[in-house]
Amino acid sequence: MPGRFLTSVAVKLQGQIYIFDAGEGSQINLRKVKLGIKSLRVLAISHLHGDHCLGVPGLIMMRAQVQEAGSLTILGPPGTERFIRQLHESLAFFLNYPLSFVEWNEGSSEVAYEDDLVRILWGPLKHTTLCLGYRLEEHPRPGKFKKEAAIALGIPYGPLWGRLQRGETVTLDQGNQISPNLVLGPPRPGRKICYAVDTQPNQTLYRLCQDVDLAFLDGMFLPKHHEEARAKGHMTADDAARVAARSGVRHAVLVHISPRYTEDDMGEFADAAKGRFENAEIGADLQQFTIPYREEDP
Ligand SMILES: [Zn+2]
Ligand SMILES: [Zn+2]
Repeated sequence: MPGRFLTSVAVKLQGQIYIFDAGEGSQINLRKVKLGIKSLRVLAISHLHGDHCLGVPGLIMMRAQVQEAGSLTILGPPGTERFIRQLHESLAFFLNYPLSFVEWNEGSSEVAYEDDLVRILWGPLKHTTLCLGYRLEEHPRPGKFKKEAAIALGIPYGPLWGRLQRGETVTLDQGNQISPNLVLGPPRPGRKICYAVDTQPNQTLYRLCQDVDLAFLDGMFLPKHHEEARAKGHMTADDAARVAARSGVRHAVLVHISPRYTEDDMGEFADAAKGRFENAEIGADLQQFTIPYREEDP
């Protein structure tokens, strides 16, 4: 719709990009927010309904316009690889980097993907076809540096402090070794995001949402259209807000609002969501969120 693109969420962490779903035209908004396509590491597809995957070809082709982009991992349900490979064969578009596919199946591990920054978990939701929900978890960070402990151990202020903070064991001039656990507090949890659309509440949805900092959830219908939501495998705004509240989500953003609604209906959506969960809001195109570390909250 004009002013309301199809759902796609990009997560940027230390310059790397992870994208969840790509509806038609997603590459246009990616350009608008100036997220470099080269650093796209993972494209995670919820399911093979057109409104979630027809933007994938555009993103893949756009990424081929840069040099040495490195491999791209595509996560999705069975049929994802066939969809992309057939398209590549039919259109014979230029591709200058390798694609690697991971398709979910009944025996899949809960962890779909892992690199030096994050791990991505997945699981089947409850829709009219197999639809996957995702949870992105930043790796835990080393504990807080305890200055007093460092001083008491006679470690001079300087580069050695930095190395200990990064988890390295160091040797002092006197020859004694200091292991980082002597000067670091317990590891601090990383930030967590859930992305789950095109679903009704189910156990997997609750598990993927558990205690996340930010959840993007299907809030397609108003409560008065709940029968339609159930028939089409979606949630109403209050369904989504209830899931968020019950699973300890800190902040929920409801997305994938049905095109039957206009901007005038957004207030009713927000009321329905906030009635169940104070920290719920209705998402908008190009909206950006910065997730603070929990102990750095004001
Ligand atoms: Zn769908
Ligand atoms: Zn959809």
